Amino acid sequence: MNRRDFLKKCAMTGAGGLVLSNRAVSVRLAGRRPNILYIMADDHSAAAIKCYGGRLAPVINTPAIDRIAAEGIRLNNCFCTNSICTPSRAAILTGQYSHINGVKNLGQALDRDRQNVARLLQQAGYQTAIVGKWHLKTEPSGFDYYNVLPGQGNYGVRNIVRLKEKGKPWQDGNKGGEEYDGYATDIITDVCLRWLKGRDKDRPFFLMCHHKAPHGLWEYNPKYEHLYENVEFPEPESLWEDKGHRCEASRQAGRTILQLCGRMESSTWPTGALDTGGMDDTQKIKAAYQKYLHDYMRCIASVDESVGRLLDYLDKENLTGDTVVVYTSDQGMFLGEHEYYDKRWMFEDSLRMPFLVRYPGEIGAGSVNDDIVTNVDFAPTFLNYAGRPVPSEMQGRSFRANLTGKTPRDWPKSMYYRYWMGASGVPVHYGVRTKRHKLVYYYGSPRGWELYDLQNDPAEINNVYESPAYATVIGQMKAELARLREHFGDTE
Ligand code: CA
Repeated sequence: MNRRDFLKKCAMTGAGGLVLSNRAVSVRLAGRRPNILYIMADDHSAAAIKCYGGRLAPVINTPAIDRIAAEGIRLNNCFCTNSICTPSRAAILTGQYSHINGVKNLGQALDRDRQNVARLLQQAGYQTAIVGKWHLKTEPSGFDYYNVLPGQGNYGVRNIVRLKEKGKPWQDGNKGGEEYDGYATDIITDVCLRWLKGRDKDRPFFLMCHHKAPHGLWEYNPKYEHLYENVEFPEPESLWEDKGHRCEASRQAGRTILQLCGRMESSTWPTGALDTGGMDDTQKIKAAYQKYLHDYMRCIASVDESVGRLLDYLDKENLTGDTVVVYTSDQGMFLGEHEYYDKRWMFEDSLRMPFLVRYPGEIGAGSVNDDIVTNVDFAPTFLNYAGRPVPSEMQGRSFRANLTGKTPRDWPKSMYYRYWMGASGVPVHYGVRTKRHKLVYYYGSPRGWELYDLQNDPAEINNVYESPAYATVIGQMKAELARLREHFGDTE
C-alpha cells in the first residue's frame, strides 16, 4: 500500500484511526526536516477554489489545488495584513508588518539586507529557490537560485515572457531578463521542475513557485479559450449593493465592474473587446462580470494544471511524504463583490487568503481549521518545520501546531490590518477583525468608521457602526484595535 492509499484508508476508518496513524508517523518524522514547496498565485480569491465551497463552487473546477486540501488542511481564516501584491510578498518573506519591513506600497523595494525566511532556511542547510513573480525590485537575497519575472511580468500571449536568472547582472524592476517561448504559468512550472530535478537530493529544499496568474489583465492560455464557455457564473449578492449604509469615506470609492466594463469595451482589451451596444448600466455590469469571471477562471485553469504537475513530480520521486506543500495567494480578490474588482480593501474577499497545506503523517487528510492566522505567520511556520527558532524581529507566530488540531491556548483571537497606499480609489484605512466582527477606520479625508457583524452579515452590506445595539461591541473592538497597534508597533 502506498502512502496515498494508506492515508485514504486512515481517513475512511474515522478519526480514531487517523489519530493513531498520525501519532505513529509523527514519531518517525520527529527530527526530520521536510522539504517545503510553497506555491503562491497572484490575486487568487478563495471563492475561485472549489474546495472553499463558495458561490462559484458548483460551476468551477480546481482539482489539483483541491487535492492539497483533500490530503491535507484548508484554512478558512487566513488573512493578509496589507492586501496588495508587493507589501504582502515582503510580509511573507520577513514575517513583519509593512511599517516594520519598509514595504507599505507598490512603489517600495525590499531591503535585501533585511532578514528573511529564505536566508534563515539557507543558513539551516536548505536549498532555497524562487521562480516566477518577485515584484520586490531589489535582487532576491537568501536564495541559492532565482529566476524571476521583471516587475509584473508578461503572460506570453501578446508579449514575450522574460525571466531574470541568478548569476546574470541584476536589473531593477521591469528591466532585464532572458526570453522564453510559451505561456507564463507553464514556463514558471517548467523552471521549477528543472530546478527540482537538478537539486542536491541529500538536502531538504525550500522552493517558492510564484505565479503571475491570475493577476489582471487576465490573458488565459489560448488552449482554454472555450473553457467555461456555456457557464453562467453566479453573481454575488453584493454586486448590487446600495452603498448608502457605509461611511462617507468608502461610499463612492473603489474599482468597480462598471469601470472595468469601460476598459473591456476597448478594442485593445487583450481577450477581445466586450460589445455593450444598446446596453444600460445594469446590463453592462452583468456582461462585464461574466467576461471577467470567464477570463479569470481560464487563467486559473493553467495554475491548477501547474499544481498538478508539481504534485505528480513529488509522487513520482517519492517526496510526497517528506514535503510540506502550501497553496496560497498574495491576497484575495474581488470577483464582483461590492461591484468591485481588484483588492486593497479590508472587506472579506480582499482580506482573505486561500491557504491549503499538505504534510502527510502530521496533518490529517481533509482537515479544516478556523483559527485566525496572517501572512506574517508564514515565515515562523516554515522555520518551525525546519526545526529553527523564530527570530525576535519576526512579528508572526508558527501555526504548525494549529494544523494538527492543537491550537495553543493563547492563540490570537483577532488580527490587525492596514492599507497604506491610498491609490486606485481605495482610501487608506486600518482595522481589526475577530471571528465575528470587523471594525474599520478610514483615517484619510473624509474620516469614518465602519463595523460589520460577520455572523449576521457575511456579505458586509450592512455597516452597523451607528447602531446603538453595537455600542458595547464597538468599545471592545476599539480597545482591541488600540492594543494591536501598540503590540505591532504601529502607533503613527
Ligand atoms: Ca496580488
